Amino acid sequence: MIPAPFTYKRASSVEEALNLAAQAGEDGKFLAGGHSLMPLMKLRLAVPETIVDIGRLGELSYVREDDGHIAVGALATHDELARSGLVGSELPLLAHAAGQVGDPQVRHCGTIGGSLAHADPAADLPAVALALGATFRTRGPSGSREIVADDFFLGLFETALQPGELLTEIRIRKPQSAGWSFQKFTKRGIDWAIVGVAVQGANVALVNMGATPVRAAAVEGALASGMGPSQAAAHAADGTSPPDDLNGPRAYREHLARVLVRRALEESAARA
Ligand code: FAD
Repeated sequence: MIPAPFTYKRASSVEEALNLAAQAGEDGKFLAGGHSLMPLMKLRLAVPETIVDIGRLGELSYVREDDGHIAVGALATHDELARSGLVGSELPLLAHAAGQVGDPQVRHCGTIGGSLAHADPAADLPAVALALGATFRTRGPSGSREIVADDFFLGLFETALQPGELLTEIRIRKPQSAGWSFQKFTKRGIDWAIVGVAVQGANVALVNMGATPVRAAAVEGALASGMGPSQAAAHAADGTSPPDDLNGPRAYREHLARVLVRRALEESAARA
């Protein structure tokens, strides 16, 4: 439970963070809230040689309206999102889901940028970002770019971010449809989802139903063809590959996905 030795550097600006990360190269890691990286380092599943602490970069901690979008700084914590009046009124799916992450300590330290960059398929906010059709702004050695959420999650704990590339902002267009729902099935309230579902309008995304957060493409297709919630939800597990572990066998998760998607679609329709 003791991390391997590493060099610690604290950045006081985004510019400095990028320079420090560039110097560290492939063996460097950004540290935001530390609630995913530190446990991995203690287990020695992550052994970065250099940590670049971005946790105090106030310039990345904001929520604001911007040209028909809600722009969220990568260092906004789960708790800030859950309590934000702007997020609550414009993106209630995000506010609600952020309030379901872990326990109060996790929500006060953990950041949306850290959750997305970590890309744990069992995490809540990556699926929410998919359902909201978010776009991610980054800065890195090759300059700035925008990556749509559908292209961001590449594999288990793997994203489109390059070494030294910093996720700076999450941009979400204000939804056209008021319908939304977030369903999270856990053993205890503070646990990770065994399966979760995020719905925004016609977009449906799944938590913990594969190596990455996934769009429930078969459900979305069924809805587009005119099926109702119950019929469409029957396709929730189509094309997925959920884990088979101590929290439940694969067939159990497939069943949960069908039940939770039906509930989510019904709740979303009632809100629309
Ligand atoms: P860190 O741990 O600091 O970083 C995580 C990874 O992202 C690292 O690889 C880091 O280099 C990288 N990174 C961080 N920020 C950036 C950035 N801006 N740009 C590029 N790379 C970056 N999550 C859930 O979704 N649901 C839960 O129910 C849940 N329960 C939890 C319970 C416990 C007990 C714990 C410890 C964690 C739980 N989490 C849960 C995870 C929690 O939400 C984490 O805080 C979050 O996933 C990571 O955010 P962080 O700011 O702590 O990132």
